[in-house]
Amino acid sequence: MKKIAILGSTGSIGTQTLEIVREKQDLEVLGLAAGSNIQLLEQQIREFSPKMAAVWSEEKAMELRTKVADTDTEVVSGMDGLIRIATLSDAEILVTAIVGMIGIRPTIEAIKAGKDIALANKETLVTAGHLIMPLAAEHQVKILPVDSEHSAIFQALQGNTGNPVHKILLTASGGPFRGKKQEDLLDVQVEDALRHPNWSMGRKITIDSSTMVNKGLEVIEAKWLFDVEVDQVEVVIQPQSIIHSMVEYEDGAVLAQLGTPDMKLPIQYALYYPQRRYLPGDRLDFWKLRSITFEKPDMDTFYGLKLAYIAGRRGGSLPTVFNAANELAVQQFLNRQITFLEITEIIEDCIRAHKVIEHPTLEQILETEKETYDRINSRR
Ligand code: NAD
Ligand code: MG
Repeated sequence: MKKIAILGSTGSIGTQTLEIVREKQDLEVLGLAAGSNIQLLEQQIREFSPKMAAVWSEEKAMELRTKVADTDTEVVSGMDGLIRIATLSDAEILVTAIVGMIGIRPTIEAIKAGKDIALANKETLVTAGHLIMPLAAEHQVKILPVDSEHSAIFQALQGNTGNPVHKILLTASGGPFRGKKQEDLLDVQVEDALRHPNWSMGRKITIDSSTMVNKGLEVIEAKWLFDVEVDQVEVVIQPQSIIHSMVEYEDGAVLAQLGTPDMKLPIQYALYYPQRRYLPGDRLDFWKLRSITFEKPDMDTFYGLKLAYIAGRRGGSLPTVFNAANELAVQQFLNRQITFLEITEIIEDCIRAHKVIEHPTLEQILETEKETYDRINSRR
């Protein structure tokens, strides 16, 4: 029996992780954490009987405690609650499916407690990769990528220990606005940006895909996961989302992982690594597919991607600024407080204004997040 805990169990990755658990006889859920959807969390508690469940606000936690008083699940709250789920004794793997850099502290504590991490929560690695990767090495825990591109790269690296990576080819669908120019994007509404062509995901990452900031975060995520320079990561637009990413070795060989767009494959691969288990679902049909096409990313229109390279190359606290500015700007766009194009403008403004701290500590990362938020909030 493999024992797991999930941060963000009510979200897109969280619920798909539980779908896998439901299918398998040898996975057991010990802990679940969610933001505010206590109705769904209650159902999950009743179905999976975890030892502990966490809700962000204490008020909602109190409500949930009453609802599940007839079960054996203990309900906790706040950052302390997230950390308790992340460090539950007996859990082997923590699935980090929470959204945003709020995942940093629980991820760090889980690593210290010796848990392997099935990492979906890319914002944590983007902002604190320089702390997390050495810590994971020190505690000999695995960081298993769940992000589909990084899972593909990880799969293409198997059996190649000792062979240096020449280049990573990070594929991207291009999002709903592929082929558009800045002037076409002046009136983009929230609903337009939420219409992703290939993947159904949480709202924040769907907006990030429409600005291509998601791909920028993934470039920096790849730097930390695979110990490469950001300039070794090349973004390739592949609109069908069939090739999930590729690795080019020094002899010119390119290894890729292909499949239908289904997040359950990378989630399941992380949970059972290095085993491959049966996964129900559609298989690739090359005769229906007929062609896979490629384009260069348009970094003038989607210059959030260019800013990610700048932040990733410079390092220090700059990726935190890039990520934090995006997190708040996306929230404001979803609340219809700013326009679509302002998301990237805000990121650029924050990056320009920031004085970089080299090797920031956890406290300095969180201070940088706050300073970035203060700067954005004082704009209007
Ligand atoms: P989502 O919005 O669907 O789910 C987020 C989850 O986090 C929810 O369960 C929510 O309740 C929980 N959460 C949010 N704030 C919380 C808080 N303060 N305390 C406790 N729980 C909190 O997001 P998602 O699409 O599942 O994405 C999760 C992460 O995975 C993100 O970092 C995203 O970039 C990454 N990711 C997602 C996909 C995908 O297909 N959805 C693919 C690759 C990577
Ligand atoms: Mg991805």
